[in-house]
Amino acid sequence: MTTTIEDAARLLRDGEVVAFPTETVYGLGANALDAEAVRRIYALKGRPATSPLIVHVASVEMARGLSSAWPAAAEELALRYWPGPLSIVVPKIAAVPDEVTSGLPTVGLRIPRHPVALRLLALAGVPVAAPSANKFTEVSPTTAQHVREAFGDAVPVVDGGPCEVGIESTVVSVSASGKIQLLRPGMLRIPEAVIAEIESKSMSPGLHPKHYSPRRTRVVIGRQAVEGGIYVWHTSPTGNDAQLQLPKEPHAYAAQLYAVLHELDARGYTALVFEPLPEDAAWDALRDRLTRASIVA
Ligand code: AMP
Ligand code: MG
Repeated sequence: MTTTIEDAARLLRDGEVVAFPTETVYGLGANALDAEAVRRIYALKGRPATSPLIVHVASVEMARGLSSAWPAAAEELALRYWPGPLSIVVPKIAAVPDEVTSGLPTVGLRIPRHPVALRLLALAGVPVAAPSANKFTEVSPTTAQHVREAFGDAVPVVDGGPCEVGIESTVVSVSASGKIQLLRPGMLRIPEAVIAEIESKSMSPGLHPKHYSPRRTRVVIGRQAVEGGIYVWHTSPTGNDAQLQLPKEPHAYAAQLYAVLHELDARGYTALVFEPLPEDAAWDALRDRLTRASIVA
């Protein structure tokens, strides 16, 4: 069911779970300092407790307050990219429960730039732990309708329209000594000179290989005989192939990708064949998501 920002803020303060829009995807949020509320997120998603959650905050002050070390590099990233689609992992204070960080001594923090999220965080007055508002391994929601399809009436949703970025945030860690590492690529790209080293994926907990997968439709990446561009083929249960063109610019592509996966999955197509994405770095995050959407087991 749809709810207002004011009611959602009150529910968050009362220890309830609500879904809300951010510029990346819709989040399933709870008070990050309330372990029981956070456990409800995992139960609703069916998410294993080994995946840490990103904590959404209203201000840089609130982020600093949840960190036991806030190196100059974290401050620089926050001032440059917040509010925005960048999550910064730093050492946490004891008050951040293990339920949020899956027992890690660090916490991922972000100020989102969606006006509804900003207003909700300001009204709630508490940090809000929120993973994407989908069932574990399924495609992240980019509209309030996607959230309703996943959770029905079990979760109140604030409707803020379609998400502008369309895929999950870039995640970096900042060590106490100030070393910055990329844990998950996103549409926000930090200049390579700033990132010390690309950490292997296995170092980022909760980056489950199979993720972002449609329920029924199989995602395949394969080159087909097409005249350039990016296409997706789909084979309907009745045998009618169709063809759909996705944008040639990565940000526009990202804004549509999950909506396309949700839509074609709901229509019951058996397979989608995606043209391989360009090799350049602007497509890194999209290659990551598409590759994981294509993993079956
Ligand atoms: P999601 O909430 O689905 O966007 O996923 C959040 C992701 O951020 C996790 O799966 C991790 O990869 C990463 N993350 C969050 N908190 C931490 C942390 N404390 N240490 C390392 N990675 C983190
Ligand atoms: Mg997710």
